[in-house]
Amino acid sequence: MKFFNILQYPDPKLRLKAQKANKDELKNIGELAKNIAYTMYKAEGVGLAATQVGINKRIIAIDVSKKLDVNCENFLEDRDILSLNKNLIIAVNPEIIYKEGKIIHEEGCLSIPGFNADIERYKNIKVKAVGLDGKEFIVESDGILSIAFQHEIDHLDGVLFIDKASPLKRTLYNAKLKKLKSEEKVH
Ligand SMILES: [Zn+2]
Repeated sequence: MKFFNILQYPDPKLRLKAQKANKDELKNIGELAKNIAYTMYKAEGVGLAATQVGINKRIIAIDVSKKLDVNCENFLEDRDILSLNKNLIIAVNPEIIYKEGKIIHEEGCLSIPGFNADIERYKNIKVKAVGLDGKEFIVESDGILSIAFQHEIDHLDGVLFIDKASPLKRTLYNAKLKKLKSEEKVH
């Protein structure tokens, strides 16, 4: 399986709006989607969007169970990542079709290392998407899964959770990044 390089904030590619996969693309998307899931597990994240690996298609992988032993390479390599990970959700062209309530929870992101912030999201949502079998499905979710869906679908629209964090936290993080960059130039 392939491990993708995960783009890091403030890479402008993270701001692109991903395109819907069409019917023909859906037939050939399996390998790509599995590699996105593989990258998510290896990076020890609970979700990853295609946008984060520089692919401009509306595909996300989510597994909030964290039950996989990510250190066991063979476990991932040798067998089918989908049949092994019962809680893995791969959603193509995901859309939020219902949202309700509010929840505030601390989030992080594989594209923004070292940054965490409390973010307000909808508590209950319904997501409509297409699976790797080409069939449409609807997931009802609340809590962590609901937050993960909203975070990942935001990525597909070029929206990052840092945009929703408090302006002070954002300013401090940007200043820290700038400092790191200027130090890199000196060395
Ligand atoms: Zn993220």
